[in-house]
Formats: sequence, C-alpha cells, structure tokens
Amino acid sequence: MLTSATLGHFIDGAYFPDDTRPMPVTDPATGEVTKNVAMASVETVNHAVAKAAAAFPAWRETPPLKRARIMFKYKQLLERDADEIAAMITAEHGKVIDDAMGEFMRGVEVVEYACGAPELLKGEHSKNVGPAIDSWSEMQPLGVVAGITPFNFPAMVPMWMFPMAIVCGNTFVLKPSEKDPSVALKLAELLTEAGLPDGVFNVVNGDKIAVDALLAHPDVEALSFVGSTPIAHYIYQTGTANGKRVQALGGAKNHAIIMPDADIENAANALMGAAFGSCGERCMAISVAVCVGDATADAIVDLLKEKIAGLRIGPGCDARNDMGPLITDAHHQKVRSYVDLGVEEGAQLIADGRTLVVEGHAHGNFLGACLFDQVTPDMRIYQEEIFGPVLCVMRVETQDQAMALIDNHEFGNGTCIFTRDGEAARYFTDRIKVGMVGVNVPLPVPVAIHSFGGWKKSLFGDLYAYGPDSVRFYTRRKTVTQRWPSGIRENAQFAFPSTNS
Ligand code: NAD
Repeated sequence: MLTSATLGHFIDGAYFPDDTRPMPVTDPATGEVTKNVAMASVETVNHAVAKAAAAFPAWRETPPLKRARIMFKYKQLLERDADEIAAMITAEHGKVIDDAMGEFMRGVEVVEYACGAPELLKGEHSKNVGPAIDSWSEMQPLGVVAGITPFNFPAMVPMWMFPMAIVCGNTFVLKPSEKDPSVALKLAELLTEAGLPDGVFNVVNGDKIAVDALLAHPDVEALSFVGSTPIAHYIYQTGTANGKRVQALGGAKNHAIIMPDADIENAANALMGAAFGSCGERCMAISVAVCVGDATADAIVDLLKEKIAGLRIGPGCDARNDMGPLITDAHHQKVRSYVDLGVEEGAQLIADGRTLVVEGHAHGNFLGACLFDQVTPDMRIYQEEIFGPVLCVMRVETQDQAMALIDNHEFGNGTCIFTRDGEAARYFTDRIKVGMVGVNVPLPVPVAIHSFGGWKKSLFGDLYAYGPDSVRFYTRRKTVTQRWPSGIRENAQFAFPSTNS
C-alpha cells in the first residue's frame, strides 16, 4: 500500500486511494522525489468527517476498558514495527535513525498513558450533597475531533493527540504534514489491526484546503494543532470563531542560561544535542545560549567550536551520524539566508555550516552547525525562529538580565538554566515566563503523565497537549444531581435550593 506512487488517505478502516493534486515527497538526504501524496479535496475531507461522525455513537458507548484494551494491543504492534516506523521517519524527515526512534518512543509513551483511560475517566462523585441527593461529574466525549500536525515529528506529534482523543470516546480525523505523510498512514493501519472499529481514526492528507474544510465543518467539535505561530494563530481564530474548542501550539525561540558556576563541559555537551539534534528542527531546540559573564561565554564558545568540528553530518539512515539534512530545499535556503543575515547584522560567525560538503549528496539539504557569538536583541537572527542548526550566543552580566531577555521574547515554549546553585535555579523556575523549564536539562519535554505546552505566542488556547490536560481537552464535563426521595413528601420550594434549610 505505501509503495504506491501517490499516497492517498485512510478512511473508515481502510486505505483510500486518491491522486488529487499530487504533491512530491522528497528524501531530504538526496533531494530525490520518492513518492507523491494526494492533497484532499473538500469532498474527501467531508467524507472522512462523515465516517468519523457515523462511528461516534457506537464508540461513545464502548466501555473505556475495552477502548484501553485496544490501546494495549496497539502498543504491542507499535513496538513490533518500531524499526520500520523509525526508518520511515528518517526516509521522509531526514533525522538520524536514533533520533527517529526517540521521537517514536515518546509517542508510544502517550499510548501507554492512554491505556489508563478507565482510571482517567472515572469522574467525581459526591453522596448526600442534599437530603437524599447525590451528585457526580462525568467526562463525556465531544464527538469528531481533528488534529493538524507539523513535519518535524511525524510520529510523536500525531501521537500526542489521537490516542488520548480516542480513549476518551471521540472519533478522530488527522491531517498530517504533507512533507512526511507515510507514518500517519502506518499508524492508522496498526490501529485497525489492534481492533479499532472502522471510522474511529481517519487520516486525510492535504494542505490548506483540507485544513480549512476541517475548520469549517459543523461536525468537527474540536481541533488540536501543532505548527508555526502564524498558522497556529489562524487556526485558533478561525476555529474558535466557528464555535470549536481549539488548542494551537506554535513556534519557539528557546533560551538556555549558562551561569558562571555551571559545569561548563556538561553544559556544552547539552547545548550541542539541544541546538543541533534533529538539525535544529525541534520546537524545543535551544537556539539561544545566554552566558552570564564574559568568562562563561568565552569558555562555552571555545568548547562549542571544538565540538562542532567533530560533528558527523550525513544521511540519517547511517547510524554513525549525529545530524542529518533539513527537511526541504526551500527550508534549507531559508536557514542559510538567516546565516547570511546574521553576518550582515554584525554577529560574529564562529562556525560556518554553509561550507559543509557531504560526499555523494550534492542535492541533499545539508547544512553544517552554525554558531554565532555577540548576538544582540535587536538582531532578526535573535528575534525570529530559524528552525535550523543555528545557535546564537548572547552575553549578559547578571542572571536577571538573562531572565529579562527570555521574558521579553515573544515566544515562551521551553527554557533551561545550567547552574550548581539551587537558589538561582529555584528563582529561575519560579519567575520565568515560559511553559516548560529545565534545570540542567536542556530539552525539558514533559513526559506523558504531564502535559506539554508553552506560554505567550507558543500556545493559543488554555489546555496543553497530552497528559492530564488532554482528558480535559477531549471531554466535556457533565454534572448530574439526582434525588430518590424514598417516600419523602416534598412541598413546592420557591427559594433557591441550598443546604441552609
Ligand atoms: P506549519 O505551520 O507550516 O504546518 C503545520 C501544519 O499546518 C501542516 O499540517 C500544514 O499542512 C498546515 N498548514 C500550513 N500552512 C497552512 C495554512 N496557510 N493554512 C492552514 N494550514 C496550513 O509548520 P511546519 O513547518 O510543518 O512545522 C514547523 C513549525 O512547527 C515550527 O514553527 C515549530 O516550532 C512548530 N512546532 C511547534 C511545536 C510545539 O509543540 N509548540 C511542536 C512541533 C513543531
């Protein structure tokens, strides 16, 4: 199925062939077109939503324990096919195979959390809130919900959404990124193999036309979005204006503070992975290192320069490599142009990844690691999300100055501090205006039992992805108050009911 020249969709429990407006999918390491993917029409999206809506009544009535058992089975199948899925991620995204496996396993952790559905959905009960009156709150599913996901985590980000949406009793339509669409179809196939009823999970491939069709569809009750900030804002505005519940996670510019007392060697190693892992194409990538004191900055820059020279860069399928290519030629050109811009803006280019040549991959989207020193807040390379292997070093004199930089930035996704001083760390975690915070942890991506979300322009909406927030996002609370008078004769009561009487 996945070898067909044009990838279609997955609707109502089966592959749904389509060759409408085929878009090329490339191997980022070679630049070769490996397949095409159909861009769904409005009619195809409406068909998927209709199938999801038709599947909802029976799925809603399916006991949570039975839904959870499907997730248990699903986890086994995901683990069985883990190598195949990681290879699929690398072939279309380009990230190195260990990194692909890492993102996939973080997705599987959400499936594991979803196996706890019976516990998560058991609600709240109060006996005798009044004479012979009991009251309880239950979490009811919403109906059809949709997910729209970015290219940079083709397995993990969809898995942030659909396992929890489904175990909560909803049916789901996923619109994955058109740049790496194969994994979503594989995830759908395995759900069917795990025993999920037809129509509960559907995938439509597509672009803005498909997204707008989901935003406009009256039967789509809620939308989860992850992607860039301008599109997140658009999705939030349009979706909420259409009466839908929306969570829209956007872009980032994540700072690390390096305090003078930090273990500099450890901090430099952490920065290498967090800045250049996945070629910087992570919403939690560290793209700014704020060094407190010139001595700290000099030491960090020297170490980073040395470590960058030792980076192994090449195709992601070669497990010896540390870093693969960028996703597309267009994105490659955009990131390069930011490096040109940084030089024009007056930042000091310490490591210039533009000179990298990967033997035998002249058409791959490779860019070496780039390191800028002496970056200042007025520069666009500091203000804007580059989403590539570009690390900016900034120099300040105090921790408060470092924290002010972070607080004044428009994004607030992740941040971390490297220090041995518990008091400095506590002051930082308590005050900083960012959603996910690390202490000597460069990528503080919450595990599946917590929830993921940023502040400021990194998230539009009130509830985070996965973890406890996802139960709230994918359910609607209903509170029932019930009396069985057992022979008590009641008179009409005209005062507002309270427990005073
Ligand atoms: P993107 O915003 O270009 O695309 C995301 C999704 O939106 C895709 O499915 C795409 O098809 C769709 N889309 C694109 N343009 C659209 C339009 N005009 N109207 C409607 N839909 C549209 O993002 P991307 O380039 O795929 O991913 C990278 C971005 O995602 C980065 O900004 C990164 O920071 C962000 N991201 C954020 C998080 C987070 O949790 N905050 C996680 C991963 C990625």
